[in-house]
Amino acid sequence: MTDQPVALPDPADVPRADRSRPEVTDQDRDVLREQLGRPARGVVGVAARCVCGRPLVVRTSPRLDDGSPFPTTYYLTGPEAVAGASTLEATGQMVGLTEWVRTEPVAAAYRRAHLAYLADRAELGEVEEIAGISAGGMPTRVKCLHALLGHALAAGPGVNPVGDEVLVRLRDTWRPDRCTC
Ligand SMILES: [Zn+2]
Repeated sequence: MTDQPVALPDPADVPRADRSRPEVTDQDRDVLREQLGRPARGVVGVAARCVCGRPLVVRTSPRLDDGSPFPTTYYLTGPEAVAGASTLEATGQMVGLTEWVRTEPVAAAYRRAHLAYLADRAELGEVEEIAGISAGGMPTRVKCLHALLGHALAAGPGVNPVGDEVLVRLRDTWRPDRCTC
């Protein structure tokens, strides 16, 4: 097992994405189609961008056009970010992270991240089927690093401790403030 951090990541160590331009342009839609290999569904905003401007995370309606509930309000689209999260999952880091979120002060921070996620989604409307369900395993488990990284990029450092920790672990190979698109 890898060494586990004991404290919360220092926000100063967490690379930041560009969160200043949420409007979805036609060019964004073209990039999203290329990133996902299909048209993006339910997109209501670009929650985080690479420093080059390409979308990294989209903000998604909690109910898609076909009526299905969609819990992943912050959906990670940047291919290198997706690959980075996949690599961490494939190298067995979820087990240690799950143990980490059971220790304080991380456990409390992770519960706050869960509530912050639900509050952000509530701005987009209430969907009964996914009421109280956030994403990625929050508030007590670590099940999808893509969802947790997406939340951290969208919310900025200091909100999602697991997503922030993922950003710290990836920063030597990929980071949102240094374009490698
Ligand atoms: Zn870029």
